[in-house]
Amino acid sequence: TVALKDVMKVFADGTVAVDRVNLDVGQGEFMVLLGPSGCGKSTLLRMVAGLEDPTSGAIVMDGELANDLPPRERGVAMVFQDFALYPHMTVGENIGFPLRLSGVEAEPRAEQVAEVASALGIGDVLARKPGQLSGGQRQRVAMGRAIVRRPKLFLMDEPLSNLDSGLRAELRAEISGLVRELGVTTIYVTHDQAEALTMADRVAILRKGVLQDVGTPTQVYGRPATLYVAAFLGSPR
Ligand code: ATP
Ligand code: MG
Repeated sequence: TVALKDVMKVFADGTVAVDRVNLDVGQGEFMVLLGPSGCGKSTLLRMVAGLEDPTSGAIVMDGELANDLPPRERGVAMVFQDFALYPHMTVGENIGFPLRLSGVEAEPRAEQVAEVASALGIGDVLARKPGQLSGGQRQRVAMGRAIVRRPKLFLMDEPLSNLDSGLRAELRAEISGLVRELGVTTIYVTHDQAEALTMADRVAILRKGVLQDVGTPTQVYGRPATLYVAAFLGSPR
């Protein structure tokens, strides 16, 4: 579980990117963080990952204050919009890289890589380099590399925004299916309302750094907390 308590981020130039956000994400929950460009989604996610320090407030993971924990001790895996694969490594080496870093031997590593790759439908391209893959395949490799170590918390920042709409729809279902199968607690960032409403257990809606509403898709769509939320989701009046 993750709990954010009055988390605030003010950048050096005075920009208030995240403004006293309180949010709980339960064990195994798929939480979608939704909001327009510049509302602070990535900043919030980066603070959870430990890539950015909050200006004030607490980030609590599994009941323990995590503010001072370095990223690699948080049990967190993150997938970005641009995938950030290693171009000189094969698909198999990319997926297995986190295991190699933590000292897993070649043989068990290959087994775990094969297992994850086959779950993601990329078992047949393990020997290729990222440059020889489609966008959807590259995204699957990025997912595989992120989950191969079975993180406690899975963070995704607009992972589908570089893909065309058909592939987005396909991968939406695939990602939420895979994540639920693994039972990993997830925070998924998007500015796409449809994506949020179809994938989420609960949606958290952010505007200018301030949390507007949190609830199940049915709750936030059917009973939006503010006019802003209603307009943003296109809820019926
Ligand atoms: P997008 O959907 O476009 O990715 P976002 O919701 O992820 O947007 P953030 O990247 O978190 O938004 O940015 C939130 C605000 O903080 C924006 O106003 C942005 O310009 C500002 N910001 C981000 N990083 C910095 C920084 N290093 N210094 C100053 N301001 C920053
Ligand atoms: Mg962003």
